[in-house]
Amino acid sequence: MDLKNKFCPKPFEYLDIHFVEGEFRCYVCCPTWLPVSVGDIGKGGLEAVWNGDLIKEIRKSMLNSSFLYCDKSLCPEIQAGTLHHKDYIYKSDYKEYLNYEDGQVPHGPKIVYFSEDRTCNLACPSCRKDYITLNDDLFDHLKGTRDKFLPDLMKDVENLNICSSGDPFSSRLYREFLFQFEGDQYPKLKINLNTNGVLLTPEVFQKMSGIHRNLSQIFISIDAAKEESYNIVRKGGQWQKLLDNISGLVQFRKKGLIDHLQLDFVVQDHNYREMPAFVKLGRSLGVDKVYFQRISNWGTFNDQEFAKRDVLSPSHPQHLHFLDVCRHPLMRDKIVKKGNLSSFIPKAQREKFYQFLKSFKFLRRMRKRVLEISR
Ligand code: SF4
Repeated sequence: MDLKNKFCPKPFEYLDIHFVEGEFRCYVCCPTWLPVSVGDIGKGGLEAVWNGDLIKEIRKSMLNSSFLYCDKSLCPEIQAGTLHHKDYIYKSDYKEYLNYEDGQVPHGPKIVYFSEDRTCNLACPSCRKDYITLNDDLFDHLKGTRDKFLPDLMKDVENLNICSSGDPFSSRLYREFLFQFEGDQYPKLKINLNTNGVLLTPEVFQKMSGIHRNLSQIFISIDAAKEESYNIVRKGGQWQKLLDNISGLVQFRKKGLIDHLQLDFVVQDHNYREMPAFVKLGRSLGVDKVYFQRISNWGTFNDQEFAKRDVLSPSHPQHLHFLDVCRHPLMRDKIVKKGNLSSFIPKAQREKFYQFLKSFKFLRRMRKRVLEISR
């Protein structure tokens, strides 16, 4: 793939905060795609992290289009070819970033992810080996530290995302934040939620009344179109309750309380056959988009187990079947976000050509057969 003159603005405006081995590690993109921590916000505060040596080097790798620190096979922007060409950048913020040649950024992060707490009501095998719940001591530690860096962090934030590490409604840390946050004090702030959706009932949604004006996007991880496979890939989930909750959210979406409602699907051996059915499910529920993503190994699988899960790998025994599923017409529906599956889902024209070649082969076989019979 040609990345010459391409540019990604993320490291100039994005901060994702995780709590790992006692440190509040910060990342300038999704840590799966750019797995380099730029520092511990719990120790040095925001300024030390935001304009430290390492983050400046990462920014320079965006400016010189080397993308040195990015995992190019996993980054959906690189895979989908959606990175900006430096000569055609129209957004004024991004144009400004191109001038920060030494990597120093004068404002704080504009897009923040809270991902310190891994508490979740589910134990999906792709994410963890068992259920995780924060104990009281850790809760106090995480909340105490966040209260310290929060005022500084919130100065320039335009988008706050909760959370990429667990579930915002299972976690007391995030639940209390969402129920108590006074969104009116931040009229321009947008809040986005990443959730498994099981606990997000209409009643829970109402409890977030303080942020209703700020709520923007809700992403619900489902990874299945049928209850059977859902029970495997989303251990601890409740299929019918989830569907009822999504229907409730669709109503809030219609009332204008949510800007965007999306269903997410991590593709693996257990569920890839259901990808077209997942598109159908998204359509029937009335969501805005369905998003597909390749499974990543976050340390829960050994190499052998992961190889069994990852049907996107050409060496997987079911890879050709996976490619066939990608060719299903529903996979080109306009509600589909292909993410890092872009190179596997053929564009309509390429697919028409493929079908034409296939029919050509079929006609040749038919002709051969007719000749054999007529002999
Ligand atoms: S991994 Fe992709 S999205 Fe992340 S910074 Fe690199 S190019 Fe941008």
